[in-house]
Amino acid sequence: MPALHPRMTIKKVWIEEGCISCNLCQDLVPEVFLVKDGEVCVIRPDATSAFAARDAEIRQAAQDCPVEVIKLQD
Ligand code: SF4
Repeated sequence: MPALHPRMTIKKVWIEEGCISCNLCQDLVPEVFLVKDGEVCVIRPDATSAFAARDAEIRQAAQDCPVEVIKLQD
């Protein structure tokens, strides 16, 4: 049987230029994404501590971001 490859854990999350402040990512993972009124999304300074527990939701946010500016490094 071939060995299973467990999914990598997220090491880094960042936002590229072009965020339209839609709040989707913050709604999904408020521990990681911060979208202040009228400002582009930023990654919270203490976000790293939530990467493991919120892995699926972070990946979901990256997938669902309407302008695809959420980037992950495994
Ligand atoms: S989902 Fe994308 S466009 Fe929406 S606030 Fe987050 S980074 Fe910005």
